[in-house]
Amino acid sequence: MAHPGYVSAVYIDDRVQTERWVRRRSLDLTADPFAGAPDEADALRESVELLLGVCHQIYLCRSAKSFLATLTDLNEQTENASHCAPIFAFVDVVFDPEAPAGHAVQPRDSISSHPTIADAEDLHGVQLLAHVASDLHIQDDAKLTIPVAILRPANHAVSKTSSNPHSHDCGKWTACMEAALVRCVDAGAVDVLKHPVDRSRVQALTVHAYRVRRAAQKERNRFMGVKKSRKQSWVGVDSEPYAYLREAMVSKLMKSICNPEDVIDEFQDRELHVSDERRLLIDRKLGDWDFSAHDFSDDELIYASCAMLKHAMSVPEVAPWRLTDGELRVFLLASRAAYNSFVLYHNFRHAVDVLQSVFSMLLHIGALPPYECIPSTPVSASPIASLLTPFDCLALLISAIGHDVGHPGVNNVFLIKLNAPLAQLYNDNSVLEAFHCAAFSQILRRYWPAAFKDTRMRKLLISSILATDMGVHFKFIERMAELQKKYRESGNVSDWSAQDQENYRTLLCGLLIKCADISNVSRPWQIAERWTNILQEEFARQGEMEKEIGMETALFGGPPELGNLLKLATGQIGFMTVFALPLFEGVAELCPQLSFAVQQIQSNRSIWQDLADREKRLSRPRDSRSSRPVSPEVADRKNQIAANKITIMVDDSKQNLHRRTLENGSSRQSSLGRVLSSSSRDSLPSIPRGGLETRTQSASTDTRTVGTPASPVTKATSVVSLDDSDVDAGDDDGCVFSSHSEVETSVDVSRPPSSDVYVMRDHHSGGGPDYDGIAARRIDDDVSKSYRVMTAFVSTGPSSAGSSPVENDKPHLAHEAVSRRARSTERAVSVARGLTRKKSRLRLTFWRRRPPTQMSN
Ligand code: 5GP
Ligand code: MN
Repeated sequence: MAHPGYVSAVYIDDRVQTERWVRRRSLDLTADPFAGAPDEADALRESVELLLGVCHQIYLCRSAKSFLATLTDLNEQTENASHCAPIFAFVDVVFDPEAPAGHAVQPRDSISSHPTIADAEDLHGVQLLAHVASDLHIQDDAKLTIPVAILRPANHAVSKTSSNPHSHDCGKWTACMEAALVRCVDAGAVDVLKHPVDRSRVQALTVHAYRVRRAAQKERNRFMGVKKSRKQSWVGVDSEPYAYLREAMVSKLMKSICNPEDVIDEFQDRELHVSDERRLLIDRKLGDWDFSAHDFSDDELIYASCAMLKHAMSVPEVAPWRLTDGELRVFLLASRAAYNSFVLYHNFRHAVDVLQSVFSMLLHIGALPPYECIPSTPVSASPIASLLTPFDCLALLISAIGHDVGHPGVNNVFLIKLNAPLAQLYNDNSVLEAFHCAAFSQILRRYWPAAFKDTRMRKLLISSILATDMGVHFKFIERMAELQKKYRESGNVSDWSAQDQENYRTLLCGLLIKCADISNVSRPWQIAERWTNILQEEFARQGEMEKEIGMETALFGGPPELGNLLKLATGQIGFMTVFALPLFEGVAELCPQLSFAVQQIQSNRSIWQDLADREKRLSRPRDSRSSRPVSPEVADRKNQIAANKITIMVDDSKQNLHRRTLENGSSRQSSLGRVLSSSSRDSLPSIPRGGLETRTQSASTDTRTVGTPASPVTKATSVVSLDDSDVDAGDDDGCVFSSHSEVETSVDVSRPPSSDVYVMRDHHSGGGPDYDGIAARRIDDDVSKSYRVMTAFVSTGPSSAGSSPVENDKPHLAHEAVSRRARSTERAVSVARGLTRKKSRLRLTFWRRRPPTQMSN
């Protein structure tokens, strides 16, 4: 056996005269440990001498206070030392064979009582042992203390037995000692020695010391290893979001898949608290596009979801998948419980919002029977909508309610960059969406078995939920362009092959849920604005986590600066222009009944544009750059932007960036989908531009090509930052983007985008009044060697014009609408500014798990 190493001990015995350290004589031959205490009992002296054979040093004491204090000191010293030194806690326990039964061991108080720290000083004997042992029990880190009882008969008992070792009392004496031994072990003693200590028993202490040291070393190595590996990516490892991201998400999911019988319901089935009056109101609102999920309590949201699903289930074709009212409620309660209430945006309210959005769209395109007079005028179902059967509608609605379950409030890029277990599980591909799907499947398995078992339903649920990954957005836009083309060629869907019908049906479901998922920007302004603010707060929280971890931002547009209205507005304009509008426009081309959503996005974008313009006007005096003399070339460039010309930069993979300027044309064919489906590298795709009322784009016209330094896009898996040099490349070309709201987007047309992530950030990393644009860049982690990045700058017009091109493009806006917009602008300004104040409150409640509330709005 290896030597147990350095060993210390603390020994409490009320015969100790002077509290002191005694050390092994071999180490200090001159010092007699008992020299200063000649009156101490010889037996004590002998025992200590023997114990010094195992321990290098022993602190002798008589009070619990110094005993516990020394133990604590020794533990602390060991914690900070590189080695694990075992510490014996020797406790003198006196037993009295003369005492009445049950009182033979001191003290008489029950050992199960829990003394407080204050009265711990009065403890001795078994009770002190119990105190040390219970402290050890709750100790998280390596346990080095070894509580050992040293049993000693009361003095009067010793004198009696020693005078007559064969007396009847001897048996009683032994029985009493055995009882004391049991009590010591029960109190937590690792070993019990008899006083005076026997030489042969001391050897056993060496075994204890070695065992404890080995276990502690192992535990310490494990902890240090974990700490080291976590330090590389997880700072603040012990706070809750990290624990959830690190372990709970994956382990909970695995448990529910592998041991479903062990999963306990995290909700209680009960009647919903919704008054009849509110039920009527909800029923009336459910089909409308101005449905505001913000306005309803959690129970009302469940009621609303029940009503929508019930309506979809009322169709005879879906009878096999029907649930009773009670089953439906339980399913929805379970779904609600699976959303995290500590997440600000991606919670159950967002799920119901998306569900209602799908529901309303299905009503508008005539795929579902009318509900409460919605649609108000009977629609002839658009031919493409006839692809959708009642079964597909039900599957879409079920997907919507579960599409974000368990969302942690951080995005895929964040999880991938941190190598979160979830990202490892799904190999960095649609990490969250794959998780939502798997977690939701478990809910369905338990609470909607008919939907879970049906392979067709399951397939559609999976494809629809995976479609909500914004990392595959452009893939969908590409496929939408294919569908548009096919539909233009033959609007008669029934003529299509069965395979085409099946494929495009699935695609249409994906497109509809995608629209619903980002439909927050297409809701009437006040509802949309509220969603935006909530999402910004969620992004801001992620930003705070990123800061804490010290990682580069994984956020689209960089961490939001709460209260920076210009940045917010520009970001929203970018999101709408690059993502939402092309999608909604394409879907509205297929289903014209949905054009209202396109108009609403345009109207909202105009409001954001007004806000941005206003903010720029206000910040102008402080903007030193705006007073810089402008060269004729720059002025020319500004004019181009004002005229809604689009400049794109194409990285042709030969390390050259080509800037090309596109005129806004008239062809109604082009869309971003068309852009992306373009297979030829040399054919210039068109890009949606800011401020366009029409949903179509021109075929591009290349007006000039200028070679500029390559953009430092890497193929790394991490977020690529766009530094100022990228922007300067534009300035070289005489383009001053900083005085305009611009959107830059990077799209890869050469490879499928499924493994890609998009990042948006500002040109000027500092933000503030200089900030003018956002940049979206696709990060590739594919192994493919050749790639190209295309960057589009989309002008939304000069701020100095007072009215933006967006507004100019809106001749239909009535005077009232304009003044309504102005009022909305005012409100938005104050709301966005108010966000700054909210930040500190946010910080306090940061990631605190709250039980689901009845009314969280
Ligand atoms: P989800 O995570 O809800 O399934 O997918 C929607 C994603 O689209 C959001 O996480 C967010 O990244 C993005 N998104 C939705 N609405 C907005 C918006 O109004 N502004 C921005 N910047 N992003 C949005
Ligand atoms: Mn969502």
